[in-house]
Formats: sequence, structure tokens, C-alpha cells
Amino acid sequence: MATARRPKLAVWKFASCDGCQLSLLDCEDELLAVAGAIEIANFPEASGAIAKGPYDVSLVEGSITTPHDEERIHAIRRSSKTLITIGACATAGGIQALRNFKDVREFTSIVYAKPEYIETLNKSTPIRDHVPVDFELRGCPVDKGQLVEVLSAFLNGRKPNVSNYSVCVECKRRGTVCVMVAGGVPCLGPVTQAGCGGLCPAYARGCFGCFGPKETPNTASLSAAWQEKGATEQELVHVYRTFNASAEPFRKASEAYEH
Ligand code: SF4
Ligand code: SF4
Repeated sequence: MATARRPKLAVWKFASCDGCQLSLLDCEDELLAVAGAIEIANFPEASGAIAKGPYDVSLVEGSITTPHDEERIHAIRRSSKTLITIGACATAGGIQALRNFKDVREFTSIVYAKPEYIETLNKSTPIRDHVPVDFELRGCPVDKGQLVEVLSAFLNGRKPNVSNYSVCVECKRRGTVCVMVAGGVPCLGPVTQAGCGGLCPAYARGCFGCFGPKETPNTASLSAAWQEKGATEQELVHVYRTFNASAEPFRKASEAYEH
């Protein structure tokens, strides 16, 4: 009797630090269980054995920053039944999207001895700006529990159980006393999407927004609360401009204070 074909998984890298792929490798036992259900067909960070596409599920890490990236992501989309982007780079352009606020030619002229050899785009953009994306998983890096949930959801044909409420909800569930209200510590938790389990406030420090903006974030209200605690306009520009600087709500929030 013929055995059923296992779905083929591919993992792709664009401009990124590999941290999200490492989260996948860090899944250890869960990955072994997943590996029993799928064929890891193309994952250069884990194995040199590459099987040709088409692939059932592609995980894409990193942002689009070069003309070659633009061509490659279209080829990957054509060879993928389901395409899932993982991490702040792939879903918002990443820390490298800080270039989007400046002239990248100025940077290359300072950093490289021969800037004319550098082929780069003016902006770092998320994958969804170039091809249709079936699901975006946030985080810098992504949470491995959420990653396994998303993978198993797509393999079983169901909707991933990933929440889009704020980090504050996670603090309440965890029993963490609010660092901002009780401790006066500036925190981006109220406008940041949950996913980390409320990690930083549990250690008495403010959230700096690595999971990106939550659904309908009230950044104007939070910025006013930060200013009441003494934050300057320049500091507000900086707090919104980190891993998710180009995510629209954070981009607009930072631009509101840039003169
Ligand atoms: S999202 Fe963060 S951890 Fe993931 S690849 Fe980008 S910089 Fe690295
Ligand atoms: S910065 Fe915010 S989203 Fe990131 S781990 Fe800390 S609390 Fe979670």
C-alpha cells in the first residue's frame, strides 16, 4: 500500500539576522514531531540536502532590500502553495527599515569604500508589499510556541490561534503589576501585539515593542502618557523606531514628533 505524501516545507532567508530561523531550530522536540508530519525539503540553515519545489508551506524570514530580492520572492511565491512570513523583518521591514527615513545613498557612501558596487533599494520593505502572503507571524524574534502553532494550523487546514490584543493582556494574565502605572516606567505594552507572554514587564522593565503594533493601537494616547513621564519629542521618535519602525502605526507615531 502506498504511503501518503508528507507536505513539503521550505524556509527562505532575505535581509535578516537569522534569529527567526534559529527560533525554528530551537523548537527541538516540537520540531521533531513536526518533522514526522512534514518533509523539511529546503532549509539551508538546518541541512545541505535540498529538494526541489513546489512546496506546500514556505516560511520566509527577512525583508526585501535588493533588486535580486524582488525577483527571488516572486519565484518563491510561484513555487509555494502557502507562504507565511516570520518576524519583524519580513512583516514590517525590520531594523534595516530605518533607512526608509533617510537617503540610503548617504549611508552607503559613508560605510563602503566603493559604494558604486552596492546594489540596494532605497527602502527595506515587508514581503507582503511584493507578493500575496497567507499569514504574518510577528516578533523579533518570533515566539517558538506561536511558530509551532502556525505551522500545525496550516498543516491541519485550520486558522492559527494567534491573538492580536496587547502585551498588557499578557501582563494581567501573568499577574505582573503594571510597570507604567505602578512603577512610572515608560512601556510600549499598550500598543504592542501580544506573543511574548509579557516578558519584559515581568522583569520590571518596559516593553520596547518587538512584536509590533497591536490591532488599532492608540499611539497618540500612549505618547501623551510618556510625555507626562518626561519623555521628549526626540525620545518618542526613537522609541517607535526600532524593529518595527516602518509598521504603519509606529511609523506615523514617530513622524508626528519629527520636525
Ligand atoms: S525579526 Fe528580529 S530575530 Fe527575526 S530575523 Fe529579523 S532581526 Fe532577526
Ligand atoms: S519588548 Fe515587549 S513584546 Fe518584546 S519581549 Fe519585551 S514585553 Fe514582549
